[in-house]
Amino acid sequence: MLPLTPRIAPITRSVLDEGELLEQLVEGFGSPVNVVLPQSAGANVARFLDVYRRRRLRGRIHFAHKANRSSALLRQLSTTDAGVDVSSLEELQHALSSGFPPDRILATGPKDRAFLWLAAQTGVTVAVDSLAEISDIPGRNAKIMIRLSGFVSHGVQMVSRRSRFGIRVGDLDTALDLIDGRAELVGLAYHLDTVAVAEKAVAFEGALAALDKCRARGLRPWTLDIGGGYGVNYLADGAQWERYTSALAQAVLGNRPPMTWNGHGYGLRAENGTLRGSLTVYPAHRGAAGADYLDQLLDTPAPGQRRPLGDLLLDHMYDLDVEPGRALLDQCGLVLTRVVEVRRQDGDLLVRVDANARDVSTEEHGVLMDPVLLGKDEGEGDNDGEGEERGAYLLGNLCLESDLITRRQVRLPRTPRTGDLLVFVNTAGYFMDFVATTAVRRPVTPMVALYRRDGRWRWCLDENYWPEGAP
Ligand SMILES: *Cc1c(COP(=O)(O)O)cnc(C)c1O
Repeated sequence: MLPLTPRIAPITRSVLDEGELLEQLVEGFGSPVNVVLPQSAGANVARFLDVYRRRRLRGRIHFAHKANRSSALLRQLSTTDAGVDVSSLEELQHALSSGFPPDRILATGPKDRAFLWLAAQTGVTVAVDSLAEISDIPGRNAKIMIRLSGFVSHGVQMVSRRSRFGIRVGDLDTALDLIDGRAELVGLAYHLDTVAVAEKAVAFEGALAALDKCRARGLRPWTLDIGGGYGVNYLADGAQWERYTSALAQAVLGNRPPMTWNGHGYGLRAENGTLRGSLTVYPAHRGAAGADYLDQLLDTPAPGQRRPLGDLLLDHMYDLDVEPGRALLDQCGLVLTRVVEVRRQDGDLLVRVDANARDVSTEEHGVLMDPVLLGKDEGEGDNDGEGEERGAYLLGNLCLESDLITRRQVRLPRTPRTGDLLVFVNTAGYFMDFVATTAVRRPVTPMVALYRRDGRWRWCLDENYWPEGAP
């Protein structure tokens, strides 16, 4: 069993140190409990702002709301300089009621008429996703961006994955014809669901060229919105990640004992003794993530013009808008679960927690990291070697073979006991409620906000959290 130790920032560490408080939360609400740390989000915004300041960039950092439903996080973010990117009527309503003024809201994703109506009525900028949406925009005064996709690289051959979103770059002229005085074009946008810098550089340069094309037609767009996808570094140790992934390949080939449930290969498979496929997990250890990744992207030479993308942007005097979701929620939440059963089966240690794979959806999102085991008598072993590190499979509470919190054998510092708390850290971005289900009549997981005030940790229900002070 090889460890994948999570990266734990000081704020998360200080929450984990509040064992008694966490125990009371699970006792009071039942397992699992989603915990959000709204005050941590402001620090992430500040890191992005710092990149803007150093590079003298203008533009806005929009939090991609879809990464978490929390009201506390949204209200806290509304007190910063960040805007918010909403992708449904309900998210738009939530943003308006969480303190965001319309000029700091951006409506993205596929939209229905109600969503378009409220966006236009309140003066929210709309990133149009299709030609049909342009015709559906009510009134004549809407502020819009056109979301583009299908950028092609000249020179080096590069495969970019097909996107179901956006208007194809080749259809830009048609889109501009459709707009024709019906709305104000404020900019062009794209969002690529990848952390691959090369793919993004192609889109960046392509979108700049498209902006120039708009200007040549007499329009005056001023901003380039490069979407989200800045990523999070989940692991404390890059060497662990290297060791784990190469060992997994060896296990798939049968050269070492299985490291996953039923020999699951995370995209790898053995065919006649050779390794096939490719690893489909998230690159959990990242050299540059979040604001550092943005910085790196802006230093990347444009594939065609060979000048750094950030310089090209300044040359053309465009604003830069970004839509980070996951990156702004780094170290902003955890999921608390209760261990309900510990059993040995065929030589393996199986630990069942009172939560399912949709409550802690790291597996669904391909993020592999170990949980943190809390417990009063940590390190106290008996002659069974309970005090020693061991590998365990984590089972969920659904009556379903596939309900494993992770198919990877995780590393625990000791054998857990029934009643212990097992905590999954850094789950605020997509892993706590995005795919949550009420299957088997399990209630929706309660969410609490944990915050520091007067030198100590306090908590309240997520919907009852209101940030301190006024702008
Ligand atoms: C999901 C999404 C984002 C956020 O992506 P992250 O990977 O969480 O940064 C930004 N923009 C759009 C349009 C999205 O759909």
